[in-house]
Amino acid sequence: MEKIVLASNNAGKIKEFNRLLEPFQWQVVSQGSLNVEAVPETGLTFVENALIKARHACNVTGLPALADDSGLVVDALKGAPGIYSARYAGEDASDQNNNLKLLQALDGIPHEQRTAHFHCTLVWMQHAEDPDPIICQGHWHGHILTQPAGEGGFGYDPLFWVAEEQCASAELGPERKNQLSHRGRAVTKLLQILQERQK
Ligand code: IMP
Repeated sequence: MEKIVLASNNAGKIKEFNRLLEPFQWQVVSQGSLNVEAVPETGLTFVENALIKARHACNVTGLPALADDSGLVVDALKGAPGIYSARYAGEDASDQNNNLKLLQALDGIPHEQRTAHFHCTLVWMQHAEDPDPIICQGHWHGHILTQPAGEGGFGYDPLFWVAEEQCASAELGPERKNQLSHRGRAVTKLLQILQERQK
């Protein structure tokens, strides 16, 4: 069984990845359990930051790495919080503070203009000098609510309205969220590419 390192310290993401990757023949280990410290995310795009995280995890562990850089892109805010989603209300901000800041930024904006999408870039790197990493992306479109709903998920899930399910993303079960989400879609693409490369 191939051992891979998951280049994330976000407990919510790790939980979702463990479920998404369960059917596959990997032993997935989070970077925290291998004492890999978080690397500064100095890129200006999701893809740059995902490459930085994957390369760092490979470098420190010598294992193949899977990194995810993701965030919420709000149209009325010109794409904010975007790559700054985790630190929208400041370094080490809580999900609750980030959500509060988002609600304030959108105050008075009507539902039809509160469109947004979650973005996920995944990077699979075989080793730190891998010149041909696999990069794939997933999007999930919705609206930003005017107040939080639901207890599930993490991050902005209580504010993300999923029209096809008529509920907030935090009200979805973990299985359903993985079927619909930006992360679930990106993982499906990654697995297709990995299979093609093995042919
Ligand atoms: P990253 O760890 O730098 O990629 O930051 C990702 C941030 O985007 C998280 O801390 C959340 O605030 C937000 N985010 C990403 N994916 C999700 C999701 O599935 N639900 C809710 N928020 C998410």
